[in-house]
Amino acid sequence: HLSKRLATVASYAPQQARLADIGSDHAYLPVWLAKQNRLAYGVAGEVVAGPLHNAETTIAEANLTTVIDARLGDGLAVIKPEDALDTIVIAGMGGTLISDILTRGWQKLTGKELLILQPNVGEEHLRGWLVEHQYEITAENILKDDGHVYEIIVAKKATAPVKLSHADLMFGPFLRVAGGDAFIEKWQHEAQRTQHVLDSLQQAAVEPSQREADFTAKLAMIKEALADAG
Ligand code: SAM
Repeated sequence: HLSKRLATVASYAPQQARLADIGSDHAYLPVWLAKQNRLAYGVAGEVVAGPLHNAETTIAEANLTTVIDARLGDGLAVIKPEDALDTIVIAGMGGTLISDILTRGWQKLTGKELLILQPNVGEEHLRGWLVEHQYEITAENILKDDGHVYEIIVAKKATAPVKLSHADLMFGPFLRVAGGDAFIEKWQHEAQRTQHVLDSLQQAAVEPSQREADFTAKLAMIKEALADAG
């Protein structure tokens, strides 16, 4: 059984994918894809010995050691040219860590791979990284699983220059158009948090500050996105 979050991440993998799951922990995602006959070859990368052992155990118990290779290493360092990967999954980490992993390992990428990213936080930062490195977002998803709201960002190297507006970076170019319950819940919560910060800034300050102006602008953007989504 795969969590709704990981099943949604997996749904973006192409048929017969050659896929690396970076920060794989239990290797649930590649093993599930292989059991569905959707994986041609998998690499489960882990930087920590404990989670690597988890991955090895899941892969061995599923009799998939010839299909999925568990490797110890930092981020994309575990990738070899002969893997001929078409898909890279990095899920369940912060957006800043995901973009750091991509930055440190960019020489390992041919530019042909589909990136399926699931940041737990820091989505705006990650979208900024993608734009800066000429990756085009091809799909997004937002879902609620086990009480948390998660975002998924799928990206591909672009042929033309990529541009996203501030609102696209913040809310997601697809998500802000699609709206939906999880989107509304996330941003209603974020609006409340922003309002709280704003209230305390206004109580403490003698005169208006730049921070106050920034939070006021952020709140206005969130309210506009929510109005569009509702
Ligand atoms: N990807 C799985 C998922 O989404 O359920 C596991 C997520 S788990 C919260 C994050 C995993 O990423 C941990 O097992 C951690 O050891 C691994 N990790 C963190 N930094 C890493 C890096 N630089 N390279 C490879 N793995 C890393």
